[in-house]
Amino acid sequence: MSLLHLSRRPLKDAGINVSFEFFPPASQAMEKTLWNSVARLAPLGPSFVSVTYGAGGSTRERTHATISRLVKQTDLEVAAHLTCVGSPREEVDAVIRQYWAAGVRHFVALRGDPPTGPGTAFEGHADGYRNGAELVAGLKAFADFEITVSAYPEKHPDSPDFATDIDMLKRKVDNGATRAITQFFFDNDVFEAYVERVRRAGIYIPIVPGIAPVHDFAKIARFAGKCGTHVPDWLAERFEGLEADPDTSALVASAVAAEQVMDLVGRGFSDFHFYTMNRAELVFAICHLLGLRGMDSAPDTTPIAA
Ligand code: FAD
Repeated sequence: MSLLHLSRRPLKDAGINVSFEFFPPASQAMEKTLWNSVARLAPLGPSFVSVTYGAGGSTRERTHATISRLVKQTDLEVAAHLTCVGSPREEVDAVIRQYWAAGVRHFVALRGDPPTGPGTAFEGHADGYRNGAELVAGLKAFADFEITVSAYPEKHPDSPDFATDIDMLKRKVDNGATRAITQFFFDNDVFEAYVERVRRAGIYIPIVPGIAPVHDFAKIARFAGKCGTHVPDWLAERFEGLEADPDTSALVASAVAAEQVMDLVGRGFSDFHFYTMNRAELVFAICHLLGLRGMDSAPDTTPIAA
């Protein structure tokens, strides 16, 4: 018997849940883009929105500022990404205390990439949390936070094999994580096989597919190589020859992402996490296809003057 729930309900009652990931803006122009995107996507009623955090605390202030604004100015549930790589525990604990004071009760707990980039060898900080599982325990020792963690359908490049990789996920769950979001992937068979593997290992938390709309094929293909995400030939073929044609490329990207998500719905999955890259159009269109419509009263997301 399949371990997956494979019901095929009509979209409108499919109980679709979405969440949106943003990154902290580095300029005024980027800030405007972010807040416009939040204003466009918030009325779709996401389960939560999250904001990334640079490894080693490189975006510490900007992430905190973005999250504080989201908490103050919207009714959205806000999850703060937190990485621990390269930092002593006391520094990470100070960040946790800051978020607690700002009203944050949900973290996406991560080890983070070393400064040399994803997939490169590194030594953790001698007095630091060494991995995602240790960070989850540290967070739970502080307060009963909701904790989301990462998962890797194609295994993390640091993991020698799937057993080691899934063991790390199990340790995160044992320490209190209640949801995992996956690294982005393009092959739904790979994701489905991964979920079955995870269930066989006795892990029953939601494994939410992380969906990355392809805004720039060359860029995402390079990044995928570093993260261990396979880029199928069929995907490369779809973007072939469109290098100097951003408009057509954007239309193809919409079709590809919609196809991936609708196929996952057909396979019985109902929760989706979108790596928005702070851009709303494509994600909004996919959510529309999923049957999501704006709520009557949208939260106020007007940026406050700097
Ligand atoms: P962990 O889960 O701790 O480890 C990853 C894997 O590496 C494990 O499965 C484990 O098997 C293996 N591993 C760990 N340590 C060892 C070891 N010593 N020896 C052998 N194998 C080992 N990065 C950011 O910088 N900021 C973000 O905001 C951010 N958000 C993300 C959100 C999501 C949903 C995902 C999937 C990734 C995100 N990342 C982010 C990227 C992430 O930080 C990197 O993938 C990082 O390399 C691993 O972090 P982790 O918490 O997944 O690591």
